[in-house]
Amino acid sequence: MTNPLISVKHLKKDFGGNEVLKDINGDIDAGQVVCIIGPSGSGKSTLLRCINQMERPTSGVVDFNGVDLAQQSDQELAKLGEQIGMVFQSFNLFPNMSVVANLKLAPMRVKGMSDEEATAVAMKYLTSVGLADKADAFPNSLSGGQKQRVAIARALAMQPKVLFFDEPTSALDPENVGEVLKVMQSLADGNMTMVVVTHEMHFAKQVADEIWFMADGVIQEKNTPAELFDHPQNPKTQDFISKVL
Ligand code: ADP
Ligand code: MG
Repeated sequence: MTNPLISVKHLKKDFGGNEVLKDINGDIDAGQVVCIIGPSGSGKSTLLRCINQMERPTSGVVDFNGVDLAQQSDQELAKLGEQIGMVFQSFNLFPNMSVVANLKLAPMRVKGMSDEEATAVAMKYLTSVGLADKADAFPNSLSGGQKQRVAIARALAMQPKVLFFDEPTSALDPENVGEVLKVMQSLADGNMTMVVVTHEMHFAKQVADEIWFMADGVIQEKNTPAELFDHPQNPKTQDFISKVL
């Protein structure tokens, strides 16, 4: 048996007395796609941010690749953080830089790649999301779907061990959602490890190996998509599924 890439144990997070995450437990294996679903305010974003240590958990353990992240210095954490790519709802591209410059920034600054090497890496990943022809464009000239594909390529350019997505299609016009989901599907097909917070139930059903249903700061139910969507056990899951499917 191989160890999980990420193992979360008894993770808790409160914000000034507001207990947002209550004893979260879960494993993510290399190559696995986990989709996290649940109502707004249930703690999904906080969970992603606590796993990647953008937010320090109040207590509990996050093991990443066998290393307990809570025990790491800020310097060590920054290094480990490079291995966790993040894609946000709002893209977070640098508007004053061209697309290719957005992709080259972290590989050059953080990994010390040469300009030439970073350009090659950037073009490789822009090509993989179908946007090589937009290398010299600026983010503001792109559609939302194109911006999000650039954001995914930018995360990939750091060659992370896992990619986190926090509602990557929620800010998109409906006609742009499909192209982003298609890129994510192809990453999953290529065995990328992914943790995806999403309201796209069809995508979750098709692509996830496992679904975590969160409500009230607790993973209420965890199962394969077939089981969770078609035979939800927990009344809270049943109620949520009946509203979103
Ligand atoms: P979701 O992503 O499922 O919608 P969030 O993780 O964003 O939920 O939020 C869960 C709860 O945590 C909310 O009540 C929110 O107000 C609270 N929360 C999140 N981040 C902070 C923060 N930085 N400070 C205080 N409260 C926060
Ligand atoms: Mg959220």
